[in-house]
Amino acid sequence: MLDALLQAAQALLIQPSCPICRASLEGNPAAKTGAELQPCGLCIEAYGLGQSNTSGNEPLPWKTLGTYQGEFRQLVLQIKQQPQSRTGRAVIQLLANHHPLPQGALLVPIPSWKKKRSNPLPKLIAAGFGQPSTMLLQRTRAGLSQHHLNRSMRMHNLHGAFHAAPAPHASIQPKQELWLVDDILTTGATALAAKNALTQAGHRVHGVICLARTPARRNGR
Ligand SMILES: [Zn+2]
Repeated sequence: MLDALLQAAQALLIQPSCPICRASLEGNPAAKTGAELQPCGLCIEAYGLGQSNTSGNEPLPWKTLGTYQGEFRQLVLQIKQQPQSRTGRAVIQLLANHHPLPQGALLVPIPSWKKKRSNPLPKLIAAGFGQPSTMLLQRTRAGLSQHHLNRSMRMHNLHGAFHAAPAPHASIQPKQELWLVDDILTTGATALAAKNALTQAGHRVHGVICLARTPARRNGR
């Protein structure tokens, strides 16, 4: 009896499961590859992970995993609460798999406004790509909360909000492709301000990578 219980417990522990819904992945081809972070097909469908609207060019090139609404929004909020969870790591991994970057691309996380309790997600997302990343951006000053501002107000609020850190980042190649990283892209005003600061410092910023992008109608465009 005890043996049977132990065996059952052991089976549970080693059984591959979906990092989002915890459903068993036994018999699933993904499980055989030992991909601990591969979500099940049902979760990919239900959350629309990488299914549509995953890239665009306005107001700068952006790549994402989905639209910040409905089920996916709930999932992103859950990840913001527990960024280092298996779910968080799985979704970040999925983003990296969905948008492979050219070799030599350098990732630049966008720093938070808050010094205390700053948002760890941009750094974690950058790390998930397994490519070099650097905190090249610094906040020049604290900005106002952006939530209630429209796009042009945000641009004004953000003007001069960032600057590029000086050396030891001087080792960045002049033509090296830089990608900004943030968790959620709303109007893109923050990313644009960050891009402008880096461009002025002579860097070549290609675009921004984020977990989710707010729906177009809420972008104030
Ligand atoms: Zn699942």
